[in-house]
Amino acid sequence: GRLGAMADGSWYDADIDHVIISEAQIREKTAELAKQVAADHAHVEDGLLLVCVLKGAVMFMADFARALGRHGPPAELEFMAVSSYGQGTTSSGVVRILKDLDRDIAGRHVIVVEDIVDSGLTLSWLLRYLESRSAASVEVVALFRKPDAVKVPVPVKYVGFDIPTEFVVGYGLDFDERYRELPYVGVLKPEVYARS
Ligand code: 5GP
Ligand code: MG
Ligand code: MG
Repeated sequence: GRLGAMADGSWYDADIDHVIISEAQIREKTAELAKQVAADHAHVEDGLLLVCVLKGAVMFMADFARALGRHGPPAELEFMAVSSYGQGTTSSGVVRILKDLDRDIAGRHVIVVEDIVDSGLTLSWLLRYLESRSAASVEVVALFRKPDAVKVPVPVKYVGFDIPTEFVVGYGLDFDERYRELPYVGVLKPEVYARS
């Protein structure tokens, strides 16, 4: 059955057509990105302020922050929740804040921790917002990037993986609020969409 345990592997493996990026690849890349960010910000005096946009980036935020913790500088973790007025598999670019930052970011060095940059609509809105709050600097680390992101006028300084234009789930990324807990990133079988 749909929720029944598989003989080997997890129940959700049955819904995955193929894996795009494995758990081990994510772990390695996250360590690499954290080292780069640490090296580039070794002399930031008051530490970094990591901003995660819920919910997709939550897994990456947790792992990236821990990896960064091994190299420094110190970081504070902030979370925002936004709604992009859209459901399903596309983004509209019209953004509403559901949960704002808990602190003043004026004069702070901010790193936006993103799950995936596709159209870049959400991200370009967010960068404008953070800059309007007078951050000293705003940079982006994104675990995944799709080809359309090259059209985005916002620089993503740190990118984990370039992946094809395909809808992916796992490692924080959902379809209809499911599959976020997958430890890897993959593509769903077509029949999963058919039954929803
Ligand atoms: P963008 O505004 O760059 O098009 O994407 C905004 C958000 O849409 C991303 O931060 C991510 O949460 C979601 N998104 C983009 N592509 C995918 C995808 O392939 N799968 C899932 N599950 N979410 C995606
Ligand atoms: Mg995101
Ligand atoms: Mg989603």
